Amino acid sequence: MYFLMPFCFCMKVRNAGNVIPNAQHFQDEYFSCEPAALELGCVINDIRHIIVCGHSDCKAMNLLYKLEDEEYSSQRNRRLSPLRSWMWTHANSSLEHFKAWRNAGMQGPLIFSSETPLRRFVAYIDPENKFALEDKLSQINTLQQLSNVASYGFLKPRLESHDLHIHALWFDIYTGDIYYFSRGAKRFVPIDETSVERLTAEVRRYYS
Ligand SMILES: [Zn+2]
Repeated sequence: MYFLMPFCFCMKVRNAGNVIPNAQHFQDEYFSCEPAALELGCVINDIRHIIVCGHSDCKAMNLLYKLEDEEYSSQRNRRLSPLRSWMWTHANSSLEHFKAWRNAGMQGPLIFSSETPLRRFVAYIDPENKFALEDKLSQINTLQQLSNVASYGFLKPRLESHDLHIHALWFDIYTGDIYYFSRGAKRFVPIDETSVERLTAEVRRYYS
């Protein structure tokens, strides 16, 4: 996850699976470092753009995909594997989204909430069917983090006043292609010479 500020100030938070825990996981004063970084970047500092990044052949996403198997994701195995436990706890919503979409034939649109619960967007995942199932899950997981970011009350005033924006990028590590999730096109669009002007116009129009 990247945070961008004017004058090229950039903060970066990385973790296994690039997962932002949903705020519902935290009670009382107990938080993990991801929401602390969000507060540092977007409340204490004046960062206005959050970019959630995913990529192809992500080992954490490949593991998340396998968690569908009951034995693989059993409590015993989750106790032995911090990564299984982390993904099970914080990325299960992505897996559930993926399973419902796959079981319905992988054609239909997915709906995600973003800056506010009412600001929803539609996403068609890999409509050209170019990527492996694990990569489709990775794209869904990337988009799921937009609503997870927006789940924190301390970000609400800035999100509701359109002062803070959340974007999604997805990187294909084998071709080097970088995709931007276009809410206008409702899909991840490769950033290249044919799309860059249109994508830039979309970002300027809606997010500046
Ligand atoms: Zn990865």
